[in-house]
Amino acid sequence: MSSENINVFCRVRPAIDDETIEYKARNTNTSNFAELEVENPLQSMTRQSNNAATSHKFAFTRIFDQDATQSEIYEATGRPLVESAFQGFNATLFVYGQTATGKTYTVSGNDLEVKEDSGIISRILSDVFNSSTNDIELVSVTVSYLEIYKEVGYDLLAEGRSKSHPDELPRVAPMKDARNRLNLRNLSVQTVNSEEEALRWFELGNTNRKVAETHLNDASSRSHCVFSIGVKCRHGDNKTTLNAKVNLVDLAGSERVGKSHLLKQNLLTEARNINLSLHHLQQVIIALSKGTIRHIPYRNSLLTQVLSDSLGGNSRTLMVATISAQKRHLEESVSTCQFAQRVA
Ligand code: ADP
Ligand code: MG
Repeated sequence: MSSENINVFCRVRPAIDDETIEYKARNTNTSNFAELEVENPLQSMTRQSNNAATSHKFAFTRIFDQDATQSEIYEATGRPLVESAFQGFNATLFVYGQTATGKTYTVSGNDLEVKEDSGIISRILSDVFNSSTNDIELVSVTVSYLEIYKEVGYDLLAEGRSKSHPDELPRVAPMKDARNRLNLRNLSVQTVNSEEEALRWFELGNTNRKVAETHLNDASSRSHCVFSIGVKCRHGDNKTTLNAKVNLVDLAGSERVGKSHLLKQNLLTEARNINLSLHHLQQVIIALSKGTIRHIPYRNSLLTQVLSDSLGGNSRTLMVATISAQKRHLEESVSTCQFAQRVA
């Protein structure tokens, strides 16, 4: 993977309820460079009076401020992945950030009923089914939806019906087939013939995700979810068939143990587990971006094993780092941006 195959974006969440926007985010015209300026950050962090604004500079591909629409995000992130999928390239898009900064909103949207709110996944599905041209014929589309919680994988589309408890969801296990290709045992891969059918599977998966959340100790912030879209198409010129997979990954909350109020021992273990798998993900992406390291440490976590066929090589990787715009979250925001920088 060369670095031009990795793009890292930042998105600032708008204010919710009585919050105010306390960061300024701006893109510079001159280069791929974005700046995060925080007014009086020290006041909130050390209670010292300091009126100077502090700016943190990070080299993102692009930064989206709190006014960015779902459609603008999609045009910059999701749409290019559809275009490359039709050329046969796999892709993985991650959303990374502290809990409640808009990861799920960005990738899955709020409510499928409200078109403007729909996230990257439903927009990709729409594009996939509406992108056929005279030159490119869509042959087939598949979807799958996996949740990883404490290194256990759950099939969110199992048997096509919603479940009342996560224990009813089959456990997914990565295996290698005879030709050493990745095979995810127990993960259902559903063939879909229309955008509507694909969205119905997506909604079923979201329903099963909510069930898991209520039983698995706030799984919404502690699990990774991977929605994968398989695209097979044929190019008119030479009739070759191309296959590609696009993964949309809603990562576990990046907040660190010390800051979250995790007192019970099992919760501590859990938080370490999450941070550890985010660490392993980072190690894999860094190893791939260096290009010189032969051994890529995919095997260290379930998430990296699952994504091993779509990271590296000719695959495209995108990360959207999401942050809030409140001073009290500055430390987490900076740490989110630093994580994103390390993989860029
Ligand atoms: P996360 O998945 O990172 O925990 P969510 O996506 O659940 O965060 O976002 C937290 C809350 O903020 C949700 O109520 C969501 O609808 C809202 N939200 C996040 N981003 C936006 C946005 N860009 N515009 C409007 N509401 C947003
Ligand atoms: Mg979420």
